[in-house]
Amino acid sequence: AKSEPSSPICLFNEEMDRRSQDKTQLVYDLRRAVENSEFELYYQLQNELKSLAPVGFEVLLRWNHPTRGRVSPVEFIPVAEETGLIREIGRWVLHEACREAAQWDHPYSIAVNVAPQQLVQPSFVEDVMDILMETGLAAPRLELEITEASIIDDQAHTLKVMHKLKTVGIRIAMDDFGTGYSSLAMLQTFPFDKIKIDRSFVQDVHKDAQRAAIVRSTLLLGAALNIPVLAEGVEVEDELHFLRGERCASVQGYFFGKPMNREDMRRIACNPPLN
Ligand code: C2E
Ligand code: CA
Ligand code: CA
Ligand code: CA
Repeated sequence: AKSEPSSPICLFNEEMDRRSQDKTQLVYDLRRAVENSEFELYYQLQNELKSLAPVGFEVLLRWNHPTRGRVSPVEFIPVAEETGLIREIGRWVLHEACREAAQWDHPYSIAVNVAPQQLVQPSFVEDVMDILMETGLAAPRLELEITEASIIDDQAHTLKVMHKLKTVGIRIAMDDFGTGYSSLAMLQTFPFDKIKIDRSFVQDVHKDAQRAAIVRSTLLLGAALNIPVLAEGVEVEDELHFLRGERCASVQGYFFGKPMNREDMRRIACNPPLN
């Protein structure tokens, strides 16, 4: 399969709400998933808008549950965060992603989602540097995607961590921009290298005046602060045309490709394709 199908992802929110033992089961399964290597990384292209050339991939975690099949990260990431399992899972994701990217022939960037609990770990910066050292990935190719939630908890600490990461050349993107409430002040205080506009604003941006206003403002803000903006969730050409007219720097979304498994990703990142 070229890209992942959209149907077999199973969501079982309602079921979980009805019976808390299902959640207990999920937590149990999640803990075992780490040990049994049931996780798999998928990779979604990020393209420069001007040339449409690939510039990198975002890593998206997939859980192949032995009986339930593919479980969506929307389902299990919050549980992993609640239970603290995200620290171990997140470290695994970072390590695998860096190990993979270090083998590519093209020096594409690799964007990895980092949960708030990972960032506040005292050993986080050391862990990341350790992983870069071990895998041989050049620091500037690694981009960490963090959300507002990471900053809110302990602003002074987060600022320190970000500065340390930036000192070694790691880049930091603000993820899900626009979905929180104090994003503007944060952009001024925290040294972000990229802003990712959430896909809820990008969807139908060419048809929806409010979304268009939000996307335009974000792009103006990015230009004023000299921070490049990536629009996520681009699905149709009309959205792309709108973004191009507004001088958005880069794009990501189904229009360019759904998240791919390793084999399909390597067709793009490796030459000749590795196995
Ligand atoms: P996110 O970081 O905002 O990632 C983008 C999500 O949008 C992904 O969902 C991606 O598959 C989806 N997407 C991309 N382009 C399109 C499009 O054109 N249309 C539509 N409808 N969707 C698109 P996914 O893979 O289900 O991940 C959901 C969320 O789970 C992510 O949102 C992220 O917050 C979290 N997540 C995924 N992997 C990790 C991880 O390794 N660590 C952490 N902490 N969170 C992760
Ligand atoms: Ca992300
Ligand atoms: Ca080590
Ligand atoms: Ca998002």
